[in-house]
Amino acid sequence: MISVEQALEKILSRVDVLEEEQRPILDSMGQVLAEDIYSTIDIPPLDNSAMDGYAVRAEDTRGASQQSPRFLRVIDTVMAGSISGYEVEPGTAVRIMTGAPIPKGADSIVRFEDTDETERRGTPGEVGILGEVKAGLDIRRAGENIARGSIVLSRGVVIRPPEVGVLASLGRSKVMVIRRPTVAILVTGGELVDISRPLPTGKIYNSNTYSVAALVRHYGGIPKILGVALDSEDSLVTKLQQGLDADMLITTGGVSMGDYDVVKDVLAKEGEVVFWKIRMKPGKPVAFGRIKGVSKAGMARNILHLGLPGNPVSAMVTFELFARPAILKMMGKKNLAKPIIEAVIEAPIVNEDGRRIFTRAVVEKREGQYFARLTGPQGSGILTSMSLANGLVFVPEDKAEVKQGEVVQVMMLDWNEEVSG
Ligand code: AMP
Ligand code: MG
Repeated sequence: MISVEQALEKILSRVDVLEEEQRPILDSMGQVLAEDIYSTIDIPPLDNSAMDGYAVRAEDTRGASQQSPRFLRVIDTVMAGSISGYEVEPGTAVRIMTGAPIPKGADSIVRFEDTDETERRGTPGEVGILGEVKAGLDIRRAGENIARGSIVLSRGVVIRPPEVGVLASLGRSKVMVIRRPTVAILVTGGELVDISRPLPTGKIYNSNTYSVAALVRHYGGIPKILGVALDSEDSLVTKLQQGLDADMLITTGGVSMGDYDVVKDVLAKEGEVVFWKIRMKPGKPVAFGRIKGVSKAGMARNILHLGLPGNPVSAMVTFELFARPAILKMMGKKNLAKPIIEAVIEAPIVNEDGRRIFTRAVVEKREGQYFARLTGPQGSGILTSMSLANGLVFVPEDKAEVKQGEVVQVMMLDWNEEVSG
């Protein structure tokens, strides 16, 4: 049996970054930028006003005060988006709104608050300036945010809402990004019934298809649902043919030692088995390899296959540990690790058989310290233990017991992958 680290290393060494594609900016969220973005324009494009006020010549305000205002003739009003046809000559001013281009001749802005504007009604023919201003005051310069020709976003950046905004501000509607992986999902088990059907006696609803598809989508992939295969090689092989167009196939169930656990046999026949057991709990039976075949489109394919355990909790935990980093790597991401924090454990955990234990926990911060509380019974069929949790507590292989009050490491499932390294 290999360790969690060895398993992840074997998986990631076989995962390649996918190709680039062009996407509309709003659809590129969460994808990795595959080009350097240069600006073809100055932002702002023209010198413009940072305030609502009057565009003036600074020298015309010299000596102005509350007691002795300087009166200027108002020759025009200019709004953001339009350009004044007038030139500000000595003794004149143009009423100007935030964002409007500075008219010719003006070199500074006097804010409304520093004029007698508020006492006047309607658009005044004249305005009293109540204080001196320096040249350049409240003017935003052309190109001051982004200069034409400069690099604005670099290849490798993950697109988040601010990047979508920056791209739009440059007038870009599409962008080159690393494409999202398609992940085919096939679950196995004669006991499984789809959620669209009534539940016959003796059967259970298939939840893995949906929890795994949700995880795939959550981490940026495109799930392709193949449905349920029965516990026979024929059924499995027929169904998985439908998934060979995908970048990766995830199966659940059928990888342990039971009589009907056919996934690893199929894997051995149809491809290559890299490993099928990991020293961890939950989730000892995890198979990884490749599946060869001809896709529906007639292409020879050799795709990654991750065989997760059937138990609903084990499937989700092993997905987080192994499928998630593989998907992120395919998407060109560099930070594949969830943040790991230290927390005080509020109940003991016993490690009976020398495996790495991952226990579902709720982490809370109290008075500057993290505390981890287990989410009740930890059976690997109890999916609500996953729903209640925000983290996974690690117990090392060589530690037989964690005592209450000890400091443990917790992988924070709800937090983003680490920002650095
Ligand atoms: P297996 O790994 O196939 O032996 O499955 C282990 C346990 O998980 C069994 O109790 C199965 O009924 C259950 N199980 C397997 N697949 C699913 C699924 N897709 N949805 C819900 N439970 C499942
Ligand atoms: Mg089964």
